[in-house]
Amino acid sequence: MSEWKPTACILCSINCGIEVLTGGDDGRQLIKIRGDKAHPSSRGYLCQKASRLNHYQNGKDRITSPMRRQPDGSFEAIDWDTAISKIAEKLAAVRDRHGGEKIFYYGGGGQANHLPGAYAGSTLTALGSIYRSSALAQEKTGEFWVQGKMFGAPVHACFHDAEVAFFLGKNPWQSHGFPRTRNVINEIAKDPNRKMVVVDPVRTETADKADIHLQVKPGTDAWLMSALAATFVQQGWVDLDWVGRHVNDFEEVAKVLQSVPVDQNCRVAGVSPEQLRQTAELLRDASSVSFMEDLGIQMNRHSTLVSYLNRLMWVLTGSFGKAGAMNVFNPLAPLGVQTPNRPAFSPVNKAKVITGLVPCNVIPEEILTDHPDRYRAMIIESANPVHSLADTPAWQRALARLDLTVTIDVAMTETARHSDYVLPTATQYEKWECSFFNLEPEHNAFHLRQPVMEPPEGVLGEPEIHARLVEALGGVPTGLTDQLRETLRSQGPAGFGMAVQGVLKENPDLMAMLPVILYRTLGPALPDGAAPAAVLWAAAHQFAQRHPDSMNRAGFEGTGPVLGEQLFQAMLGNPSGVVFSVDDPESSWQRIRTRDRKINAAIPPLLEELAGLESTAAGTSEEYPFVLSAGERRSFTANTIYRDPQWRRKDYDGAMRINPSDADRLGLADGGRARITTRRGSALVAVEFNDRMQAGHVSLPNGQGLDVAMEDEQPRRVGAALNELTSLEDRDWLAGTPWHKWVPARIDKAEA
Ligand code: SF4
Repeated sequence: MSEWKPTACILCSINCGIEVLTGGDDGRQLIKIRGDKAHPSSRGYLCQKASRLNHYQNGKDRITSPMRRQPDGSFEAIDWDTAISKIAEKLAAVRDRHGGEKIFYYGGGGQANHLPGAYAGSTLTALGSIYRSSALAQEKTGEFWVQGKMFGAPVHACFHDAEVAFFLGKNPWQSHGFPRTRNVINEIAKDPNRKMVVVDPVRTETADKADIHLQVKPGTDAWLMSALAATFVQQGWVDLDWVGRHVNDFEEVAKVLQSVPVDQNCRVAGVSPEQLRQTAELLRDASSVSFMEDLGIQMNRHSTLVSYLNRLMWVLTGSFGKAGAMNVFNPLAPLGVQTPNRPAFSPVNKAKVITGLVPCNVIPEEILTDHPDRYRAMIIESANPVHSLADTPAWQRALARLDLTVTIDVAMTETARHSDYVLPTATQYEKWECSFFNLEPEHNAFHLRQPVMEPPEGVLGEPEIHARLVEALGGVPTGLTDQLRETLRSQGPAGFGMAVQGVLKENPDLMAMLPVILYRTLGPALPDGAAPAAVLWAAAHQFAQRHPDSMNRAGFEGTGPVLGEQLFQAMLGNPSGVVFSVDDPESSWQRIRTRDRKINAAIPPLLEELAGLESTAAGTSEEYPFVLSAGERRSFTANTIYRDPQWRRKDYDGAMRINPSDADRLGLADGGRARITTRRGSALVAVEFNDRMQAGHVSLPNGQGLDVAMEDEQPRRVGAALNELTSLEDRDWLAGTPWHKWVPARIDKAEA
């Protein structure tokens, strides 16, 4: 009889704890799924998407052998020794001929699949690779840049005890973003003393529950948010005493906001001045406000400016460093791949590299050029850029131009099909895995997940793949791992820790190899095959050094290495997760990492952009009269790790939502077909009349348009591939984030 096993849902950043029963004919099916009440953050909560996870575990296009592309474009299966030695040889050849920095890395893990990125840093350092990117650069880098300038620390909302919740370009009912999302939204909606504000061009499910819905015209959030911020300055509602104690250079900001034409900006945004004033008064009078922005503004025009205006609202309403407001959180470890050298700009276009990430839209441009510094090879890991990033045809051309593309993934994805080598890896239910999306300011939890079944023969976990590549590249000195393994055996964890420190002191360059060194030394000594978790030993000790008080409040005792070892053991011993950091909201003021622990309000280039906002927003054209929001989150959409379209209970091929008045005018039928055309491409789509959309605005959902092998083994497409419609050049001037939520489009009735 199978037992319920704890793990997590991997479909969004919240990673709710789940319990699964495995079984079926082959014993490899997730036959029942329920919320895990022992998970410290989700406490049994789930949304409807998790129940379909077997469509991921037993998904389409699975590969179970390394594959090598043949001259005719087909693939042949090869053994692991050949794959590793050939790939290492070819990557080394690119490094030796053009320089290691010409080897680009993309990915590093999807939702809740963050250990690969931790190990990839060793491979990349062995190659001298320094440029990389991931899906975060599609969405969050503008936000990260602004946050770094203003706070120098990561900040998150505390909706569970906020008096007012403010959602900007975010529909948390569908996209989640904080633990137990729908429960919290319902609690706020039912409490007469609490309020909710939604800024969104679509009347979303969250907007239905909100007290105020500011239904902006698509792409005009900069006008709306500047009008909202300006109201506080122009009405004299700012607590100057609070600002004086906590904020630098506020006068520069106030001067620009003083000149914002509030009523004119309301007109541009399509929101009445009265409704804006009502919103401003609500925020002014609230004892606490938590704000959250998301892709509606982050993949839109003026996205970095709007992220800035959002944070200025935190300052103007005093919503930082107190309960129910915005507060600093302590992540267990930095997100993404860590390598010693972080360039400031990309090599060809000189695009800004934010948190180590090259803007995604820039990457194909920096391959499809004759510039001597162009990228020559790519390693792509747990990511599908050909499908998921703007301008699919440009990505296909770019990969064809490279000397070598290596993809590490579970399935033969659209990207894998354009690669030279494809290395198959375990699913998230077949390996030890975790998420570094630990974002809670007060009680921050970490969940190290154990496998619920063995991987099939022929696949390897990412830590093993990276260890083999590093060894083939000669990245770790001969004999070092044998020596450290012996120290661990003879002297235990304390002696091992000191020996590792000694090695790093003597040779600091080996720091980047530490993940692989730990995997090969501490890894085999861990219980139940937990070797992939070895890298967390370093993360636990580093966290204990940085935040001993936060750990003590979470129930860990002692200091120094004792504390670090306790945390590591707690991770291994709590299969449903563990709270590792507890902090008071007020301590955010001590954890902010600006020079004088004050918020830096002025960001000159963004104040310049704000001052230069036109009196009208650039609109659509006669040729492309609609705005397409590409990638809407819906009840049955998820990222593309669900390759099997059968997982969707409804909206099978992802209909285009259109206001009925527009549809009538165009002669479209509800449930019929239409052709959508953008400057970049064209697609046939199903039509759904939907009065949640405003006139002139249409949406298509995310996660569709994969070319999936069906029962007859032939790849078939279901739904529209959005990035055949999006362009590389449509991106934010500062962060380079794409405008997927503002794609000018034409809609035509499809011929029968
Ligand atoms: S909110 Fe839903 S999709 Fe997100 S992790 Fe939880 S169950 Fe999965």
